[in-house]
Amino acid sequence: MKPIESPWYAVTAAPAPRRPALAGDLDADVCVVGGGVAGCSTALHLAERGFDVVLLEESAIGHGASGRSGGQLLPGYSCGQDKLARLLGPPDARRLWDWSVEGLALARDRIARHAIECDLQAGHLQVAVRPRQLDAVAQEQAQLESWGYGGTRLLDRDALRTIVASPRYLGGLYDPHAAHVHPLNYTLGLARAAEAAGARLREGSRVLAVEPGPTPGARATVKTAQGRVRARWVALCGNAKLGSAAPTIRRRIMPIATYMVATAPLGPALARELIANRAAVADLNWVLDYFRLSHDDRLLFGGKVSYSGYDPGGIVPGMRRRLDRVFPQLAKVPLDYAWGGLLDITVNRAPDFGRLAPNVYYLQGFSGHGLVLAGLGGRLVAEAVAGHAERFDVYARIAHRPFPGGRLFARPTLVAAMAWFRLRDALA
Ligand SMILES: Cc1cc2nc3c(=O)[nH]c(=O)nc-3n(C[C@H](O)[C@H](O)[C@H](O)COP(=O)(O)OP(=O)(O)OC[C@H]3O[C@@H](n4cnc5c(N)ncnc54)[C@H](O)[C@@H]3O)c2cc1C
Repeated sequence: MKPIESPWYAVTAAPAPRRPALAGDLDADVCVVGGGVAGCSTALHLAERGFDVVLLEESAIGHGASGRSGGQLLPGYSCGQDKLARLLGPPDARRLWDWSVEGLALARDRIARHAIECDLQAGHLQVAVRPRQLDAVAQEQAQLESWGYGGTRLLDRDALRTIVASPRYLGGLYDPHAAHVHPLNYTLGLARAAEAAGARLREGSRVLAVEPGPTPGARATVKTAQGRVRARWVALCGNAKLGSAAPTIRRRIMPIATYMVATAPLGPALARELIANRAAVADLNWVLDYFRLSHDDRLLFGGKVSYSGYDPGGIVPGMRRRLDRVFPQLAKVPLDYAWGGLLDITVNRAPDFGRLAPNVYYLQGFSGHGLVLAGLGGRLVAEAVAGHAERFDVYARIAHRPFPGGRLFARPTLVAAMAWFRLRDALA
C-alpha cells in the first residue's frame, strides 16, 4: 500500500507549472475563486469572451474534488428530474435536462479542442442490485427516449454479465453518450486552456474575504493574506472549502467525505474480463459503489461516505469489503492507493447557483454530480457576466434552505438519514 492520501490521479498527473501566489494588488474584470472544474471552466469561458480574468486557488489547480473524483461525465442531476420538476415546474426541469446534455457535449468539445489528454472513454452503466431498481431504469429509459436521448440500452442479468463480471447485479441501463476521464488531468487541461486564452492563475492564494463594493457598479475586492484583486465581477467556485469567504452560502452546503481506492494493475486480460467494454459503472443504491478501469488497467473503485471527518486510512478495510462483494475474484489483488475528497451536498441535492450581490456569482452544491455541471456552470456565469443571465437565472430560481441547526448540528441528522438510506438499500 502506497502512503495514504496519495491519489492515483496525482501520481499520473500531466506535468503542470507551479503558478505564483498572489502578491500585492491586481485589477481585473473578473476574479474567479477556486481552481476546480467550476473555476477553471468559468475562467476559460470568460477569457474566451475577452474578459480579463484572475483566478485564485488556495492550494493547487485540481487539488479539490475535481482532481479526486470518480471521473464519470454524466448528464442529469443528483436530485433527479422529478425533484427538479417540483422545484421549477416541468418545462424548466426539462430545460435543465437539455442543458446537462449540453454540458456533456461541452466537456467532450473542450477535451478535443484543447487537446486535453485525460483518457476520455465513452460509456456508462447504471446497475441494479434490487428488483425495484430494474423498474426504475426501465422507466428512466422510456423517459430518455421520449426526450430524444436515444441509443441507451436496457440489459438483463445475463446480458450485463457478458459485460461486467460481477455476480452482484440484476441488470442495468447502458448509456453510450456518458463517459469517464482522468479528472485531475481534465481539470489541469481546462486550466491550461484558460491560461492560453489570457487568464492569470494564482495558486497558494486562499481567499479570506470578498467585499462586493460599497455602491452598485463599484468594483469588488477579493482579499488574500498577501494581496487583493479589485474586479468588476467575482465568481465563487470554492466548493466545500470556501469557508468564511462566503459565510451565507456556506450554510447551504454540507461537506461530506467520500473515498476511492485503486488496485494494483490487473493486466489487460483480467481488466477485459471484468469490464469488457471499459464503461464506467455505478449502482443505484443511495450509498453507491462506482468503478471503472484506468488506462493502466487498475480498477478505480469508489464508494462510502463519512460525516465525521476526512480519514482515508480508516476506510480502507470497508472499501476492501465493498470491492470484494462486487468482484470476489479480486480478493487477492492488493490496493495500491486510497484517497478521498469532499462533496458539496445541498439539502435538496439540486445545484445551488446564484448571486451574493449583483456582481458576485457563485456555483456550488453539485451534490456528487459535478464534473459535467461545473463545466456548464462556467459557461453560464460567463453568459451572465456578458449580459445574458437567462439560463443562469433558471438555476438561480431553485429554492435552497440552510442545513437545519447549521452544519455542525446537522451532522447527527445526516448520520441518521444515511443509516435510514442504508437500511432502505438493504431492504428494498
Ligand atoms: C471521491 C469523489 C468522487 C466523485 N465522483 C464524481 C463523478 O464520478 N462524477 C461527477 O460528476 N462528480 C463526482 N464527484 C463530484 C465532483 O468531483 C464535484 O462536484 C466537482 O468536482 C466540483 O467542482 P468544483 O470546481 O465546484 O470544486 P473543487 O474541485 O472542489 O474545486 C474547488 C477549489 O476551490 C479551492 N478553494 C476553496 N476555498 C477557497 C478559498 N477560500 N480561496 C481560494 N481557493 C479556494 C479549493 O482548494 C479547490 O481547489 C466526486 C467527488 C468526490 C470527492
